Parts: sequence; C-alpha cells; structure tokens
Amino acid sequence: MAERAIIVGAGIGGLALGRALKADGWDVEIHERASQLPTTGTALGMWPEAMEALDALGLGDQVRDRGVLQRGAQFLRPDGTAFAHVRPDNPSYLVSRPLLYEILHDEALGDSVVWGSDINDPGKLPAADLIVGADGINSPLRQAGLGPKAAPRPLRTVAFRGVVPGSVDSVTETWGDGRIFGITPQEGATTNWFACVRHDVLADHDNGISNTDLLGSLFRDWHPAISAVLSKVDAGQIDRRNLYDAAPLGSFFQDNMVLIGDAAHAMAPNAGRGACETLVDAVDLATSLRSAGSVHDGLQNYDRHRRRQAQRVVRVSRLLNRMSTARRFTTLRHQMMNVLARFA
Ligand SMILES: Cc1cc2nc3c(=O)[nH]c(=O)nc-3n(C[C@H](O)[C@H](O)[C@H](O)COP(=O)(O)OP(=O)(O)OC[C@H]3O[C@@H](n4cnc5c(N)ncnc54)[C@H](O)[C@@H]3O)c2cc1C
Repeated sequence: MAERAIIVGAGIGGLALGRALKADGWDVEIHERASQLPTTGTALGMWPEAMEALDALGLGDQVRDRGVLQRGAQFLRPDGTAFAHVRPDNPSYLVSRPLLYEILHDEALGDSVVWGSDINDPGKLPAADLIVGADGINSPLRQAGLGPKAAPRPLRTVAFRGVVPGSVDSVTETWGDGRIFGITPQEGATTNWFACVRHDVLADHDNGISNTDLLGSLFRDWHPAISAVLSKVDAGQIDRRNLYDAAPLGSFFQDNMVLIGDAAHAMAPNAGRGACETLVDAVDLATSLRSAGSVHDGLQNYDRHRRRQAQRVVRVSRLLNRMSTARRFTTLRHQMMNVLARFA
C-alpha cells in the first residue's frame, strides 16, 4: 500500500516518517511552519530503541560515527558525591538536535518539505489518504481532532538548557532541593547542560534578574563542575521553558488522521525519551502501513503497538520529574534511584 500522505511538522517525527514512507513509494508532502531546519539546539540521548529505529531508517551508523558514545550516567548530590550509577547493557549515543535534523533531512527526502507552511486548520489541507500530526506538543491537529481536553498538562517545573565550549567525558545529573543540573558531552568538543527547577523554588530566586544570574543563584555552592559550566554560559543562548506533558489519549488516530511523537504523547524531559519514542513511532507507523491491507488497518496496528507503550514512558517521565525535583524525603529518593538505576 503506497498512496498520498500529508505530514504536518518537519521535526524529528515528521522527517523520520517522511523518509520511511517515501522509501515505501508514498507520495509525501511535509508542511513545516519554520522557514528552515533549526541551526541551534542541545543534545538528545538516543537510547538503544531509538538506535534500532535509526538503523531501520538506514541512519544508525551516521549517528554512531558523528554523535558521542554514552555508556551510562552518574547521579550526584550537590557536594559532588555519587548516590547512583546507571550502566545500561547497550550503549546510547548523544547527538545534538541540529545534527540529528541534518542526518534525517538528506536527499532521500527530496523536496518533500514545504517550508513556511503553517497549518492551523487541518480542514484546509489538500486531500490525502493519510494525514499525520507530527506537529509537536501544542499540535493544532490534535486540538482540532480532540478538542480542549487534549491540552498539555503543566508539570510546574521549568527547564533551562544550553551548550558551552569545551569537552566533558561523562554524563552527570546532580539532584538537590527542588532542582537538578545535568551535564553531558556533545559532538564538536562542546558540552550540553540542562537544569530543571520547580516553580516554587524558582519563585524564591527569580526577582527579575537575568537567566545567568538566576542560574548562579540557584546552583551557588554546588560542586565545581557546575560552576565551571555556568561560568561559560552565553546568556543569549539559554533556552528557558515551562514544562508540560500530554494527558493520555484514548486513540492515536481518527479516520485517516494519526498522531506521532510529542503530538501524541509529549512527556517530561527527565527520562530523556521524547525524541527516542518519536523515532520509534515513525518506524512503527511506516511498518504497520506497509504490512496492512488498508490505511485504517495500518493505523489500528500502529495504535495497538505504540499507544500504551508510549503512555507508560510518559508516566515514568512524570514520576522522574517529580522525584528529581522533590524537596522532601531526598535521602529516600536517592535510595529509590539507586535501586531503579540497576534496572535501566
Ligand atoms: C528541555 C527538553 C529536553 C529534552 N531532552 C531530550 C533527550 O535528551 N532525549 C530525547 O529523546 N528527547 C528529549 N526531549 C524531547 C524531544 O525534544 C521531543 O520529544 C521531540 O522533539 C519530539 O519530536 P516531534 O517531531 O514529535 O516534535 P517537535 O520536535 O516539536 O517538532 C514539531 C514540528 O512541527 C512544527 N509545527 C508545529 N505546529 C505547526 C503548524 N501549525 N504547522 C506546521 N508546522 C508546525 C514545528 O515547527 C516543529 O518543527 C527534550 C525536550 C525538552 C523540552
């Protein structure tokens, strides 16, 4: 089965699905409201399931060659002492968002992407056998299909992230009172950093000061690797955003319209899984359509394979968001994390 597909959103999900459908002979049009691929962005951890999806797209080796191998992570207290280590059996790779986009958007996509095309009303889309909402957490397609009940849920935490020059060789996440700070390697001799802070903790520090002063105030007296990163942060390049996740949907499709990635199951970034689950969606949807007798059967199979699985990851990510930014029972959470880390 290979027909005409319209995809809204040329993010990780839209580009991955576009490639997979084109390889199966589909006529693909991807509408993206931005005028070009993003040129800045921080690191994304590609877990083994995402590497398998990238392999299915024929792109895994490019990520292995150009990204940074990650063999685990250390969880630290603010004084720098470790309380847990994650050492997964299979390695992951860290790759910056712009590099991942560059790998996904090569000649295999041809001129399928229509840049600067903002689709807010799916009713105005041209006719197609398949319409895909790959339009991210605020998906207009999801809202149009499912209404206000599909609005994202606030997590009452704020993320800050950025990239600084210089290399580090390991991944660390430091957990303190209502806030965390993460440091990871990134390709090109750069270091990726992120912080996640509870709203109430932020309110105690945020007196209209700059984001750099705010981070300095939030992480003052934490171990020296954090101050070393913060001393290099360029204020103009800090990405600051309130965090949300998605309430569970009863179905990822309606008629011939289907959702993938954050549009279907946006999650807290604390497990580092959103982009990974998005890549798995794209490959699963293409495979389900390839082996089904009709678009409807393909969408039903995709929904059966992916919805509960992705919603489980949303729940785990929400739990990690709460645990990592907890203000009470922090010794207990460290013990819990130590146990959980053994199963990663
Ligand atoms: C702070 C933070 C850290 C993260 N860290 C990680 C990590 O380490 N590992 C990981 O796996 N994931 C991580 N994620 C999650 C990851 O970024 C997302 O899950 C992933 O980007 C989802 O891809 P997507 O293609 O579904 O959506 P998006 O990447 O959001 O792409 C959606 C696209 O649709 C376009 N669009 C939106 N509306 C319209 C419209 N009306 N018309 C046309 N185009 C439209 C947008 O411009 C965009 O290009 C993190 C997220 C955050 C916020």
